Amino acid sequence: MRLGAHMSAAGGVYKAFGRAHEIGCESMLVFTKSNRQWKTKPLTDEDIAAYKKAAAEHDIHPVAVHASYLINVASPKDDLWEKSYQAMKVEIERAGQLGIPFITFHPGSYVKSDEASGLARIAQALKRVLAETAVSAPNVTLCLETMAGQGTNLGWKFEHLAQLLEEGGPSDRLGVTFDTCHVFAAGYDIRSPEAYAATMAEFDRIVGLDRIKTFHFNDSKFELGQKKDRHAHIGEGFIGREGFANFLNDPRWTGYPAHLETPKTEEDADGNEIEMDVVNLATLRSLLK
Ligand SMILES: [Zn+2]
Ligand SMILES: [Zn+2]
Repeated sequence: MRLGAHMSAAGGVYKAFGRAHEIGCESMLVFTKSNRQWKTKPLTDEDIAAYKKAAAEHDIHPVAVHASYLINVASPKDDLWEKSYQAMKVEIERAGQLGIPFITFHPGSYVKSDEASGLARIAQALKRVLAETAVSAPNVTLCLETMAGQGTNLGWKFEHLAQLLEEGGPSDRLGVTFDTCHVFAAGYDIRSPEAYAATMAEFDRIVGLDRIKTFHFNDSKFELGQKKDRHAHIGEGFIGREGFANFLNDPRWTGYPAHLETPKTEEDADGNEIEMDVVNLATLRSLLK
Protein backbone atom coordinates (compact mmCIF):
# COMPACT_ATOMS: atom_id res chain seq x y z
CA MET A 1 0.00 0.00 0.00
CA ARG A 2 1.07 3.59 -0.43
CA LEU A 3 1.18 4.92 3.11
CA GLY A 4 0.90 8.53 4.12
CA ALA A 5 -0.86 10.98 6.38
CA HIS A 6 -3.11 13.99 6.42
CA MET A 7 -0.62 16.82 5.81
CA SER A 8 -0.95 20.51 6.51
CA ALA A 9 -1.52 22.69 3.45
CA ALA A 10 -0.74 25.89 5.36
CA GLY A 11 0.78 28.49 3.05
CA GLY A 12 -0.41 26.71 -0.10
CA VAL A 13 -1.39 23.14 -0.97
CA TYR A 14 1.91 22.61 -2.79
CA LYS A 15 3.75 22.99 0.52
CA ALA A 16 2.23 19.73 1.75
CA PHE A 17 4.53 17.77 -0.60
CA GLY A 18 7.70 18.89 1.18
CA ARG A 19 6.19 18.11 4.57
CA ALA A 20 5.00 14.69 3.40
CA HIS A 21 8.39 13.90 1.89
CA GLU A 22 10.16 14.81 5.13
CA ILE A 23 8.26 12.20 7.14
CA GLY A 24 8.43 9.48 4.49
CA CYS A 25 4.94 9.52 2.97
CA GLU A 26 4.33 7.69 -0.31
CA SER A 27 0.89 9.28 -0.65
CA MET A 28 -1.00 12.00 1.26
CA LEU A 29 -4.32 13.51 2.23
CA VAL A 30 -4.85 17.31 2.22
CA PHE A 31 -7.41 20.04 2.59
CA THR A 32 -7.29 22.45 -0.37
CA LYS A 33 -9.08 25.16 1.63
CA SER A 34 -9.78 25.96 5.25
CA ASN A 35 -11.89 23.09 6.55
CA ARG A 36 -13.82 25.22 9.02
CA GLN A 37 -14.76 28.15 6.77
CA TRP A 38 -17.27 28.27 3.97
CA LYS A 39 -15.55 30.92 1.92
CA THR A 40 -12.40 30.39 -0.05
CA LYS A 41 -10.36 32.32 -2.58
CA PRO A 42 -10.30 30.69 -6.00
CA LEU A 43 -7.04 29.00 -6.95
CA THR A 44 -4.88 31.25 -9.12
CA ASP A 45 -2.83 30.07 -12.10
CA GLU A 46 0.24 30.51 -9.86
CA ASP A 47 -1.28 28.27 -7.15
CA ILE A 48 -1.99 25.59 -9.72
CA ALA A 49 1.46 25.85 -11.33
CA ALA A 50 3.17 25.66 -7.91
CA TYR A 51 1.13 22.56 -7.05
CA LYS A 52 1.88 20.81 -10.33
CA LYS A 53 5.59 21.59 -10.03
CA ALA A 54 5.74 20.17 -6.49
CA ALA A 55 3.72 17.12 -7.53
CA ALA A 56 6.17 16.43 -10.38
CA GLU A 57 9.15 16.80 -8.05
CA HIS A 58 7.93 14.27 -5.47
CA ASP A 59 7.13 10.57 -5.64
CA ILE A 60 4.00 11.13 -3.52
CA HIS A 61 0.85 9.77 -5.10
CA PRO A 62 -2.01 9.43 -5.25
CA VAL A 63 -3.04 12.59 -3.41
CA ALA A 64 -6.53 12.70 -1.92
CA VAL A 65 -8.51 15.69 -0.70
CA HIS A 66 -10.59 15.68 2.46
CA ALA A 67 -13.57 17.99 1.98
CA SER A 68 -14.60 20.53 4.60
CA TYR A 69 -16.29 19.25 7.76
CA LEU A 70 -18.94 21.95 7.40
CA ILE A 71 -20.55 20.34 4.37
CA ASN A 72 -23.79 18.53 5.19
CA VAL A 73 -25.84 17.54 2.18
CA ALA A 74 -28.08 15.39 4.40
CA SER A 75 -29.39 18.55 6.05
CA PRO A 76 -33.17 18.96 6.06
CA LYS A 77 -32.73 22.75 5.87
CA ASP A 78 -32.83 24.03 2.31
CA ASP A 79 -30.45 26.94 2.88
CA LEU A 80 -27.81 24.79 4.57
CA TRP A 81 -28.26 22.08 1.95
CA GLU A 82 -27.67 24.53 -0.90
CA LYS A 83 -24.70 26.12 0.86
CA SER A 84 -23.24 22.65 1.43
CA TYR A 85 -23.95 21.65 -2.13
CA GLN A 86 -22.14 24.70 -3.53
CA ALA A 87 -19.17 24.12 -1.21
CA MET A 88 -19.03 20.48 -2.30
CA LYS A 89 -19.01 21.51 -5.94
CA VAL A 90 -16.25 24.06 -5.39
CA GLU A 91 -14.12 21.45 -3.62
CA ILE A 92 -14.50 18.99 -6.48
CA GLU A 93 -13.61 21.67 -9.01
CA ARG A 94 -10.50 22.62 -7.03
CA ALA A 95 -9.41 18.97 -7.01
CA GLY A 96 -9.97 18.95 -10.78
CA GLN A 97 -7.83 22.07 -11.25
CA LEU A 98 -4.99 20.52 -9.27
CA GLY A 99 -5.26 17.12 -10.96
CA ILE A 100 -6.10 15.35 -7.69
CA PRO A 101 -7.94 12.06 -8.37
CA PHE A 102 -9.86 11.55 -5.10
CA ILE A 103 -11.97 13.71 -2.82
CA THR A 104 -13.47 12.28 0.36
CA PHE A 105 -16.73 13.51 1.88
CA HIS A 106 -18.56 12.68 5.04
CA PRO A 107 -21.97 11.66 3.67
CA GLY A 108 -23.79 13.89 6.19
CA SER A 109 -26.02 14.05 9.25
CA TYR A 110 -29.79 13.98 9.08
CA VAL A 111 -30.11 16.12 12.25
CA LYS A 112 -33.83 16.51 12.99
CA SER A 113 -35.17 14.60 10.00
CA ASP A 114 -34.71 10.83 9.66
CA GLU A 115 -32.38 8.33 8.08
CA ALA A 116 -34.37 7.84 4.87
CA SER A 117 -34.81 11.59 4.26
CA GLY A 118 -31.13 12.21 4.95
CA LEU A 119 -30.02 9.52 2.51
CA ALA A 120 -32.35 10.89 -0.16
CA ARG A 121 -30.92 14.40 0.29
CA ILE A 122 -27.34 13.12 -0.06
CA ALA A 123 -28.22 11.12 -3.17
CA GLN A 124 -29.83 14.21 -4.67
CA ALA A 125 -26.63 16.22 -4.08
CA LEU A 126 -24.43 13.49 -5.55
CA LYS A 127 -26.49 13.18 -8.69
CA ARG A 128 -26.48 16.93 -9.28
CA VAL A 129 -22.81 17.44 -8.48
CA LEU A 130 -21.70 14.58 -10.72
CA ALA A 131 -23.58 16.18 -13.59
CA GLU A 132 -22.41 19.73 -12.85
CA THR A 133 -18.73 18.74 -12.57
CA ALA A 134 -18.72 16.28 -15.46
CA VAL A 135 -16.77 18.77 -17.60
CA SER A 136 -14.79 20.67 -14.93
CA ALA A 137 -13.60 17.61 -12.98
CA PRO A 138 -14.16 14.48 -15.08
CA ASN A 139 -11.20 12.65 -13.50
CA VAL A 140 -12.10 13.31 -9.88
CA THR A 141 -13.72 10.45 -7.97
CA LEU A 142 -16.02 11.39 -5.08
CA CYS A 143 -15.41 9.04 -2.18
CA LEU A 144 -18.01 8.64 0.54
CA GLU A 145 -16.32 7.99 3.85
CA THR A 146 -17.43 5.11 6.06
CA MET A 147 -18.63 6.80 9.25
CA ALA A 148 -18.62 5.85 12.94
CA GLY A 149 -22.34 6.32 13.53
CA GLN A 150 -21.97 9.21 15.95
CA GLY A 151 -25.08 11.32 16.46
CA THR A 152 -27.22 11.32 13.33
CA ASN A 153 -24.43 10.78 10.83
CA LEU A 154 -25.08 8.51 7.88
CA GLY A 155 -22.74 6.19 6.03
CA TRP A 156 -21.85 3.97 8.98
CA LYS A 157 -23.91 1.05 7.74
CA PHE A 158 -22.60 -0.57 4.58
CA GLU A 159 -26.21 -0.48 3.35
CA HIS A 160 -26.19 3.35 3.51
CA LEU A 161 -23.17 3.46 1.22
CA ALA A 162 -24.68 0.95 -1.19
CA GLN A 163 -27.87 3.01 -1.41
CA LEU A 164 -25.97 6.27 -1.98
CA LEU A 165 -23.76 4.77 -4.67
CA GLU A 166 -26.84 3.45 -6.39
CA GLU A 167 -29.19 6.43 -6.03
CA GLY A 168 -26.49 9.11 -6.28
CA GLY A 169 -25.16 7.49 -9.44
CA PRO A 170 -24.73 5.19 -11.03
CA SER A 171 -21.31 6.61 -11.85
CA ASP A 172 -17.76 5.34 -11.90
CA ARG A 173 -16.87 8.71 -10.34
CA LEU A 174 -18.39 7.50 -7.04
CA GLY A 175 -16.31 5.49 -4.59
CA VAL A 176 -15.67 4.85 -0.91
CA THR A 177 -13.00 5.84 1.59
CA PHE A 178 -12.67 3.07 4.15
CA ASP A 179 -11.79 4.49 7.58
CA THR A 180 -10.65 1.69 9.91
CA CYS A 181 -11.56 3.55 13.11
CA HIS A 182 -15.01 4.47 11.85
CA VAL A 183 -15.84 1.00 10.50
CA PHE A 184 -14.76 -0.55 13.81
CA ALA A 185 -16.73 2.03 15.81
CA ALA A 186 -19.74 1.27 13.65
CA GLY A 187 -19.58 -2.36 14.80
CA TYR A 188 -17.65 -4.19 12.07
CA ASP A 189 -14.78 -6.21 13.52
CA ILE A 190 -11.43 -6.20 11.68
CA ARG A 191 -9.09 -7.32 14.47
CA SER A 192 -8.42 -10.99 13.73
CA PRO A 193 -7.80 -12.43 10.25
CA GLU A 194 -11.17 -14.22 10.50
CA ALA A 195 -13.11 -11.10 11.56
CA TYR A 196 -11.35 -9.05 8.88
CA ALA A 197 -12.23 -11.61 6.20
CA ALA A 198 -15.87 -11.68 7.31
CA THR A 199 -16.17 -7.86 7.36
CA MET A 200 -14.58 -7.50 3.94
CA ALA A 201 -16.82 -10.23 2.54
CA GLU A 202 -19.83 -8.38 3.94
CA PHE A 203 -18.64 -5.11 2.43
CA ASP A 204 -18.13 -6.87 -0.88
CA ARG A 205 -21.59 -8.39 -0.82
CA ILE A 206 -23.37 -5.14 0.08
CA VAL A 207 -21.24 -2.40 -1.53
CA GLY A 208 -18.54 -4.07 -3.63
CA LEU A 209 -14.84 -4.02 -2.79
CA ASP A 210 -14.13 -2.37 -6.16
CA ARG A 211 -15.78 0.78 -4.77
CA ILE A 212 -12.99 1.31 -2.24
CA LYS A 213 -10.54 3.91 -3.54
CA THR A 214 -8.67 5.08 -0.44
CA PHE A 215 -8.19 4.10 3.20
CA HIS A 216 -7.87 6.09 6.40
CA PHE A 217 -5.74 4.16 8.87
CA ASN A 218 -6.66 5.13 12.42
CA ASP A 219 -6.80 3.01 15.54
CA SER A 220 -9.80 3.52 17.84
CA LYS A 221 -9.91 4.91 21.38
CA PHE A 222 -13.22 3.11 21.92
CA GLU A 223 -14.30 -0.50 21.77
CA LEU A 224 -16.04 -2.21 18.87
CA GLY A 225 -19.49 -0.81 18.08
CA GLN A 226 -19.35 2.17 20.46
CA LYS A 227 -20.15 4.58 17.58
CA LYS A 228 -17.48 6.97 18.85
CA ASP A 229 -15.18 8.67 16.38
CA ARG A 230 -11.96 9.01 18.36
CA HIS A 231 -8.72 8.17 16.61
CA ALA A 232 -5.82 6.47 18.42
CA HIS A 233 -2.23 5.86 17.33
CA ILE A 234 -1.67 2.67 15.36
CA GLY A 235 -1.50 -0.27 17.77
CA GLU A 236 -2.49 1.82 20.78
CA GLY A 237 -6.24 1.51 20.40
CA PHE A 238 -8.82 -1.25 20.44
CA ILE A 239 -8.15 -2.33 16.84
CA GLY A 240 -4.51 -3.14 17.55
CA ARG A 241 -1.60 -3.98 15.28
CA GLU A 242 -3.02 -7.22 13.93
CA GLY A 243 -6.03 -5.39 12.54
CA PHE A 244 -3.79 -3.18 10.40
CA ALA A 245 -1.62 -6.15 9.40
CA ASN A 246 -4.78 -7.67 7.87
CA PHE A 247 -5.11 -4.75 5.44
CA LEU A 248 -1.41 -4.27 4.78
CA ASN A 249 -0.87 -7.90 3.84
CA ASP A 250 -3.99 -8.27 1.73
CA PRO A 251 -2.81 -8.35 -1.91
CA ARG A 252 -6.13 -6.85 -3.02
CA TRP A 253 -4.93 -3.49 -1.62
CA THR A 254 -1.50 -3.39 -3.22
CA GLY A 255 -0.87 0.15 -4.45
CA TYR A 256 -3.91 1.61 -2.67
CA PRO A 257 -3.41 4.82 -0.66
CA ALA A 258 -3.85 4.67 3.13
CA HIS A 259 -3.65 7.84 5.21
CA LEU A 260 -3.17 8.45 8.91
CA GLU A 261 -5.52 10.89 10.64
CA THR A 262 -4.06 10.37 14.08
CA PRO A 263 -2.82 13.06 16.49
CA LYS A 264 0.31 14.71 15.08
CA THR A 265 2.39 15.00 18.22
CA GLU A 266 2.77 13.57 21.69
CA GLU A 267 5.20 14.42 24.47
CA ASP A 268 7.70 11.92 25.81
CA ALA A 269 8.48 11.53 29.53
CA ASP A 270 10.93 14.44 29.36
CA GLY A 271 8.41 16.77 27.73
CA ASN A 272 10.00 16.55 24.26
CA GLU A 273 7.66 16.59 21.31
CA ILE A 274 7.48 13.37 19.27
CA GLU A 275 6.42 13.46 15.61
CA MET A 276 3.75 10.78 15.76
CA ASP A 277 3.21 10.38 12.00
CA VAL A 278 6.79 9.09 11.79
CA VAL A 279 6.10 6.63 14.61
CA ASN A 280 2.77 5.47 13.16
CA LEU A 281 4.20 5.02 9.65
CA ALA A 282 7.06 2.96 11.09
CA THR A 283 4.58 0.82 13.03
CA LEU A 284 2.53 0.20 9.88
CA ARG A 285 5.64 -0.68 7.84
CA SER A 286 6.79 -3.11 10.54
CA LEU A 287 3.56 -5.07 10.05
CA LEU A 288 4.30 -5.92 6.41
CA LYS A 289 5.03 -9.60 6.10
ZN1 LIG B 1 -13.18 12.14 7.39
ZN1 LIG C 1 -11.25 9.40 8.12
